[in-house]
Amino acid sequence: MAKDYNPHKTAQAQFDKVADLLNLEHGMKAILRDPLREYHFLIPVHMDNGSVEVFKGFRVLHNDARGPGKGGIRFHPQETIDTVRALSMWMTWKCAVVDIPLGGAKGGVICDPHNLSQREQELLCRGYVRQLSKNVGPLEDVPAPDVMTNAQHMLWMLDEYETISGAKYPGFITGKPVGLGGSLGRTEATGYGVIFTVREALKEMGIRPEDTTAAVQGFGNVARYAIELYQRIGGKVTTVSCWNQKEQKPYTFKKEKGIDLKELIPITDNFGSIDNSKAKALGYEILPGSAWIEQNVDILIPAALENEITADTVGKISRKVKLIAEGANGPTTIEADKVIQERGIFLIPDFLANAGGVTCSYFEQVQCNMNYYWEKEEVLSKLDLKMTSAFIAVSRLAREKKLYMRDAAYVIAIDRVARATKSRGWV
Ligand code: NAD
Repeated sequence: MAKDYNPHKTAQAQFDKVADLLNLEHGMKAILRDPLREYHFLIPVHMDNGSVEVFKGFRVLHNDARGPGKGGIRFHPQETIDTVRALSMWMTWKCAVVDIPLGGAKGGVICDPHNLSQREQELLCRGYVRQLSKNVGPLEDVPAPDVMTNAQHMLWMLDEYETISGAKYPGFITGKPVGLGGSLGRTEATGYGVIFTVREALKEMGIRPEDTTAAVQGFGNVARYAIELYQRIGGKVTTVSCWNQKEQKPYTFKKEKGIDLKELIPITDNFGSIDNSKAKALGYEILPGSAWIEQNVDILIPAALENEITADTVGKISRKVKLIAEGANGPTTIEADKVIQERGIFLIPDFLANAGGVTCSYFEQVQCNMNYYWEKEEVLSKLDLKMTSAFIAVSRLAREKKLYMRDAAYVIAIDRVARATKSRGWV
């Protein structure tokens, strides 16, 4: 990510454009373009070597007019409050665009879990909840996993919350392990959701998935399940890219006849980093990290980090690319977005494309509340239904009003949140 980008400014600029389209009043604009609440805190951790490290944590609640806040917690060495603010805002729009009764929130800790033992990670998770237990909860704000956090982290957080509260609250957090309040299908949900929307977009464009190729940035949770389902519907992924922890830079892995998940997953660590030399031995071409964007493919799926398609990189997108499905949150800067729109590339915006995760988290909460858990097929078919109807509503509006897909998705989402905010009498 380029250093001078501010994701919160990007999120606000996207909002301002649609607020004008919707003729929102001054008070409504003011309440929706910034978070309602945010918490900044320190988390001291007694490290294995006897020292104490103090980590900085954040939780931001952007808007809860439509229901309790919802959003992941990221562990990242370059985490910033502006990234968390932007992501919390995108969560509000994401829950609204798929029409689930939740608001938007996000959390983060500035840390690199690669350098933390399991015990230190557990203390960090428990410390995070201790700082926030009064301000989050099943009816207030519900966290979930995100970049570099997983089901184990969620369970430690749940355990700490239940210890403090003195009762069982499985709906406090989502992304829990299956059998301990987690939902089947949650692991697959975001990546599959991306492909449910890709499938619908291709249908509209009159293109068969079997006739398409794709390049993917990232090889973590979202990317892998997106690749799996995309390959199942007939597509070919020629390229993936990921971060190399040892060298502290990204690499791209290419196999013209199509990458094979069965080959790559066993040589990938828990953080989604593929081993370069083992991949080379398996016949993969190893290219610079930025190479994924310049591939001669039909579909690009950025599924790593924010601000990866920028004014500097957008020009490298091949003329062959017809569709961009934003698996990651905020992968495209405002400047790059204009170029994509001008070039007429069909775009499935992040908060629609990757809404499968939060939709399944909502299903997880519903199941926790019932204390009855659905089979995986039931979860995934409900997910398909939600994602497909959200996609169809957005693309229909885009066609009818001749709007760019991102703007159409924003119009639907912001309008729903603004109506809830107004109906509550906040403005
Ligand atoms: P993850 O930690 O499982 O994987 C991240 C992947 O990105 C890893 O393979 C990592 O090596 C790679 N990466 C990191 N920096 C890179 C770089 N500079 N170039 C290339 N690759 C790089 O994370 P994830 O859960 O797959 O999330 C990916 C994106 O999707 C994030 O933007 C996240 O906010 C978003 N998202 C995730 C979910 C979810 O359910 N997991 C839901 C919605 C949105």
